[in-house]
Amino acid sequence: MRLALFGPPGSGKGTQAAILEETYALEHLSTGTMFREALREGTAIGYNAKSYIDNGELVPDEIVWGMARDAIVAEAYDNFVLDGFPRTLTQAIWLDNLLAEFGGSITMISLEVPGDLIIERLSQRRVHRVTGATYHLRFKPPPADVDPEELIQRSDDRPEAIAQRLVVYQELTAPVKLHYRERGALLEVDGVGDPLTVAKRIGAEIDKQ
Ligand code: AMP
Repeated sequence: MRLALFGPPGSGKGTQAAILEETYALEHLSTGTMFREALREGTAIGYNAKSYIDNGELVPDEIVWGMARDAIVAEAYDNFVLDGFPRTLTQAIWLDNLLAEFGGSITMISLEVPGDLIIERLSQRRVHRVTGATYHLRFKPPPADVDPEELIQRSDDRPEAIAQRLVVYQELTAPVKLHYRERGALLEVDGVGDPLTVAKRIGAEIDKQ
């Protein structure tokens, strides 16, 4: 099974990818997480990506492609759920070609969430510095044993960066959805609600396939 999660920042891609990983025994491949790990580890990829991420811009394709290819090849081109990739039409066509070399294709799951909810979700998001676990200050508060000092706001969840990420999403990422709809490979799912409710909707769409 090859899936990709699509949606604006804060639509719940990471949360749903983690559930899909468990449910269908898939590998969760998040390009954003790979960049954040590269930053923590101080690698060249992290160094080159940092200013783009902090400003809410997309990291250039040449950097993303190498990283995405390595991750997909490591899974032998199957049994993965992509999160945050492809994010442009060029990336989508690149991915289609990569998978076609092995007779495969991808099913895109689009999480539909209204804009006002997106801003609220992103501004309330906090990430654990060590584990990378994600919380929402109101709807998914951190457990009592988590030290609040260890919770940080992602640099790109600051208001200026959020605004820029949404502009980038509308201009560069939204066309990806149309591309997969035209190919008959798009599942549209209501992304409003608690994570398990949304996960059930996704499961129902996958089962219809
Ligand atoms: P995410 O965790 O998916 O929200 O990604 C965080 C940031 O990493 C994005 O705002 C981009 O700067 C960068 N990024 C992640 N995935 C991609 C991608 N497929 N193409 C370009 N930049 C990306």
